[in-house]
Amino acid sequence: MRATFCVKAHQLLSRGFIHPVRPSAAVRWRSAPSRLLCSSPPDGENKPPSILRHLTSKIKATGPIPVAEYMKEVLTNPVTGYYVRNNMLGPEGDFITSPEISQIFGELIGVWIISEWMGAGRPKQLQLVELGPGKGSLASDVLRVFSQLRSVLGEASVSLHLVEVSPALSLLQAQNLTGNRSWEADGEDGPVYRRGETEAGLPVSWYRRLDDVPTGFSIFIAHEFFDALPIHKFQRTEKGWREVLVDVDPEKSDELRFVVAPSSTLASTTLLQAEERRDHVEVCAEGGVIVQQLARRIVEDGGAALIADYGHDGAKTDTFRGFKGHQLHDVLSSPGSADLTADVDFSYLRRMAGGGVACVGPVTQRVFLKNMGIDTRMQVLLRNCSDPSTRQQLISSYDMLTNPAKMGERFHFFSLLHPSRLAKPKKPEGLKLEKKRSPAPLPVAGFTELRFA
Ligand code: SAH
Repeated sequence: MRATFCVKAHQLLSRGFIHPVRPSAAVRWRSAPSRLLCSSPPDGENKPPSILRHLTSKIKATGPIPVAEYMKEVLTNPVTGYYVRNNMLGPEGDFITSPEISQIFGELIGVWIISEWMGAGRPKQLQLVELGPGKGSLASDVLRVFSQLRSVLGEASVSLHLVEVSPALSLLQAQNLTGNRSWEADGEDGPVYRRGETEAGLPVSWYRRLDDVPTGFSIFIAHEFFDALPIHKFQRTEKGWREVLVDVDPEKSDELRFVVAPSSTLASTTLLQAEERRDHVEVCAEGGVIVQQLARRIVEDGGAALIADYGHDGAKTDTFRGFKGHQLHDVLSSPGSADLTADVDFSYLRRMAGGGVACVGPVTQRVFLKNMGIDTRMQVLLRNCSDPSTRQQLISSYDMLTNPAKMGERFHFFSLLHPSRLAKPKKPEGLKLEKKRSPAPLPVAGFTELRFA
């Protein structure tokens, strides 16, 4: 099995199977660390945007709100939310992500998905579920790999399921993935709000929540999704742990500021670990719930989840920050005009996944992509490309994705797998006296180096 996958992956990577090279973007990505525990005046806006008015009147009426509530309102409020209204990805937007930088990224994830599907014994149904698909570029690159490897997928029935809260982005995804072959779903479609079909006839469905996606063997992909989920912030004080809240500045009534809750809150008594050593902690409870749902689905229905994001393994403290026009932006200033994000705490996700599911990683993006064969793929693309500017673009996007000083070490890959995936295969029946070593579990692509033997 291992040899089969390795050979297939090698053929795939060296065949030069994707044409043409998608133009890549050369702009800054979200990366700069910051400490933004203070507010600054809005950038020249005279009139407070409506989300600020909404938040200030709410806080004036009922008191300071948790950072998680602030983040959720600002990003995903159904009317005014940043993700709901904007197309923020790309050179003209606020930040850029790996799938937008290079098609190779999505291609290698496509190879990963097929390898996990093979590792699970090639089930007849394959649901590809993407959480927060942005412009749909990652899914589009993955589907291209699927159509190139149709012979490997055989008779498997493949469907694409997108969990997207933003109507604006879901339209972009539909355009990118189905052209004009998508339509708004009617009431009879239950939780599906849009349906469509790719050019190759593969069904695509859109949902607002993971819970709404049908059960069944699924590979889940979440790229830069968890960092957009609301975090709670906690500060260690002389009196114990206190939640950080967002309040209206009493001296400037249209500005916000952070305050520390005077006494413990439900969140500060339930979300922190007794042995916590840091003085400031961020907890993404919503991310924890989503990981629990993923783990339960994987254990019950089979499959795997690949979570890729910038993050840490439980050591960082204050990572909450804003991005606007590829620059850092004060998180409390002009809410709704900038992206808000926090590093993903993979140690927390691992804890929330529980013992039923197997976890691998996090490994850095550089390690993951190199293990997946990005160097081989680059060589093939460069060999087949004579245009100097396209070659330069390929080289600089490769550098952006893998350079340790750029995205290579800031971004990490983490995976949840069905426990059987890492179990040692049974020893072959035979003479009891024979001293054979137990066969090793199948390697998980990306997390262990692929050997092209
Ligand atoms: N994965 C894409 C986009 C990352 S931006 C890429 O890497 O290019 C975050 C994405 O998650 C956007 O599509 C945003 O609309 C979506 N999103 C944010 N919060 C969400 C939520 N609570 N539920 C569903 N989608 C969400």
